[in-house]
Amino acid sequence: MVEKGHPRYKSLKLREKILEAYHKGVLADAGIIAHGRGEAFDYLIGEKTRKPAARAIKAAAALLLLAKNPVLSVNGNTAALVPEEIVELARLLNAKIEINLFHRTPKRVKLIEKILKEAGAEEVLGTEDEKLKHLKGIKSPRATASPRGIYIADVVLVPLEDGDRAEVLKKAGKAIITVDLNPLSRTSQKADISITDNIVRAIPLLIKYVKKLKDYKKDELKKILEGFNNKKNLEYMLRLIDLQRMRKL
Ligand code: ATP
Ligand code: MG
Repeated sequence: MVEKGHPRYKSLKLREKILEAYHKGVLADAGIIAHGRGEAFDYLIGEKTRKPAARAIKAAAALLLLAKNPVLSVNGNTAALVPEEIVELARLLNAKIEINLFHRTPKRVKLIEKILKEAGAEEVLGTEDEKLKHLKGIKSPRATASPRGIYIADVVLVPLEDGDRAEVLKKAGKAIITVDLNPLSRTSQKADISITDNIVRAIPLLIKYVKKLKDYKKDELKKILEGFNNKKNLEYMLRLIDLQRMRKL
């Protein structure tokens, strides 16, 4: 049991959730390691949503509201940490939810589908019942997508995504938004909008922004996007944790 007054209380609670998901078979062991990497970056940014992240979240809300076919991609870590929030976000945006696993096994897909359904999802794509397609004819196992989801999506939210997969999505012409605590990861560097924040804080704030911007006119949403520069924003994030300087030493 973690005591509430412990300085790492929230972080340790998340660890418990991750380990529980791992023991249930929802997460691959690589998922625990990915979480650990995320934890380290969260420590460096002060375990709170920093200004550049909030700006990226606002831009992400605008882009998702402008999308014709938005899709929220879900992996094991996302299902373990924010299933209800993903379902609520999908409902607000009229977006599809698609399971997208790096370490894909039929058992893990089933378990994640169950978590999402229990969280209230009416439809979950990317399951074993579907015949997945290959994006742009790319024959890599990293390029599979649901023909009703990511395959036809214009905007995809891919939290904690692998760099190779992010690249495949970009090559297929998708606009991608990621939530990734490491501003230097290939995914953060490749995404159109990179939210450098913990997914447990980012998705609730994204929900707030979507609610706030829901009635904005298209032009107003486009203005928000035009005022956002992902490259600069990532630079601010790097400066904030001083990794930039560390790299030059
Ligand atoms: P890339 O393949 O993009 O270069 P990577 O190989 O370093 O990244 P992956 O394991 O492929 O890392 O992706 C997981 C990413 O998710 C890591 O960058 C990690 O920092 C991040 N991450 C882990 N847990 C969280 C979390 N709770 N919230 C946000 N990001 C997280
Ligand atoms: Mg990777």
